[in-house]
Amino acid sequence: MVYFLDFDSSKLPEEEAEVVICGSGIGGLTTAIVLKELGVDPLLLTRGVGNTYYSQGGIACALHPHDSPYLHALDTQRAGRGLCKEDTLRILVDEGIQRLADLRRWGVSFDPETTIEGGHSFPRVYKVKDYTGRAIYEALWKRVRELGIEVLMGELQEILGEDRVEGILYYDGSLKFIRTSVLVLATGGAASMFLHTSNPVRVRGDALGIALRKGLTLLNPEFVQFHPTVVKNTSILISEAVRGEGALLLNSKGERFVDELQPRDVVARAIYRQIIEGGEVFLDLRPLKNKGIDLKERFPTIYHMLRDLGYNPKEQPIPITPAAHYYIGGVEVKSYGETTFEGLYAVGECACTGVHGANRLASNSLLEGVVFGHRTAYKVFHQLSTLKKAKTKIFRNKREGKGKPPYTFEDLRRLMWETCGLERREESLEEGLQRLTNWLQSWKNWEPNVENRQLFDISLTAMATFSCALWRKESRGVHYRKDYPYEREEYRRDSEYRLEAHLML
Ligand SMILES: Cc1cc2nc3c(=O)[nH]c(=O)nc-3n(C[C@H](O)[C@H](O)[C@H](O)COP(=O)(O)OP(=O)(O)OC[C@H]3O[C@@H](n4cnc5c(N)ncnc54)[C@H](O)[C@@H]3O)c2cc1C
Repeated sequence: MVYFLDFDSSKLPEEEAEVVICGSGIGGLTTAIVLKELGVDPLLLTRGVGNTYYSQGGIACALHPHDSPYLHALDTQRAGRGLCKEDTLRILVDEGIQRLADLRRWGVSFDPETTIEGGHSFPRVYKVKDYTGRAIYEALWKRVRELGIEVLMGELQEILGEDRVEGILYYDGSLKFIRTSVLVLATGGAASMFLHTSNPVRVRGDALGIALRKGLTLLNPEFVQFHPTVVKNTSILISEAVRGEGALLLNSKGERFVDELQPRDVVARAIYRQIIEGGEVFLDLRPLKNKGIDLKERFPTIYHMLRDLGYNPKEQPIPITPAAHYYIGGVEVKSYGETTFEGLYAVGECACTGVHGANRLASNSLLEGVVFGHRTAYKVFHQLSTLKKAKTKIFRNKREGKGKPPYTFEDLRRLMWETCGLERREESLEEGLQRLTNWLQSWKNWEPNVENRQLFDISLTAMATFSCALWRKESRGVHYRKDYPYEREEYRRDSEYRLEAHLML
């Protein structure tokens, strides 16, 4: 276990909480609401809106009489390329039905009609126009307020305790200490560590680095899903549904170069090829009009976001890039969010329940957040009665250091994009990993402040991604190795990453 910051808890403002939940996306909000409804007083710590808010498509659930959880599981397994965990997948598809009812009970008004998305064999995606995530986020947030759940705006810095959770440090302009025996990480993914990403800045993957420093294992961190169409130089995503309705992809010559309805990774790589060969790629939404679709009516969020950026999608093709979108790997958890560290749980995108395998089926991640958030709350509720009180009185870590990291977050993002992106190869992965290792070598001399802590922890997550991308000498799901373009039976298993001791010395 390694702390980054220099601190003495006896000199910090202190408070106590039964349970701290870190993150206010669908995973964290669900856990908080269910715990509160069970009579527990959780404290919600967050640095602001995450991916949930920006979700456009919807949430998958097999409710229709002609559909079934079994079919939903089959579709998910097909996408997951042999790596979906059967027990958690069954939970996901079975319990989705109850959890969708919870979302409705908490105030989400889904559209009456469902849609179909890539990889699903049935129209089982529940949506609220093209702003499902925002609708869910707002309803859950309202419920949090109604229930009087305490919310702190701040950033998790350290998890305290040698062999179990005994507290946390967070930063909200100054460092503060919370004594607690339970921490639920609901901190989202890490796709923002790539130069091009659809993720907002508050979701950075640093909490995965904090978990690594606690000795936790990350599973499958090499599986990063890239979305084909994010508006160039922004993190604004244009949903696949637009291509489903007839939007076309054009290269610099104005020509089509790929079947727009192929799977996400195939389309993303085709676009990437055009770009690295010096071209540009555009998404042309004008054909929607010929099909009698009013863009503004059918895709109001996308339309208004594009207008705000100065584009008129009814008249001009939009420049786009593929971008890192979803982090499939995460902290190894059991089916109730339990990690291997006592008192520490993880839910949502930061956790790896194994339901997605090597590729996430569209609209399964909001579902994962609400299903496993609910289960985690129940497990925490039961465990509270047996948890021992924290034994350590004061937590200290002495660190000096006046140095600056030899790189910035932007440097890291560029490195990830160039050497560990859509097309991976042994030499470039090794080169990228070596560069990152060199950067990290001086970490003990870095000034122990919160900015450097964040960069350090994101870099640990990046290290996990590199290491497992190198280890997986095959192409499977979203992990594409140009030098090993096929699946290989010996790799039909999860990759695991724990912090290597030499890094910390
Ligand atoms: C543009 C976009 C569209 C998407 N569309 C869909 C879709 O249609 N359907 C679907 O199923 N999925 C979709 N996804 C994926 C889905 O949104 C996410 O997987 C899901 O919302 C993750 O929820 P979460 O609760 O795990 O984390 P998030 O919603 O990402 O929330 C993470 C929270 O953790 C907080 N946090 C992080 N680190 C710290 C820290 N150190 N200290 C304090 N707080 C911290 C953040 O502030 C935030 O509150 C989409 C994602 C994006 C980006």
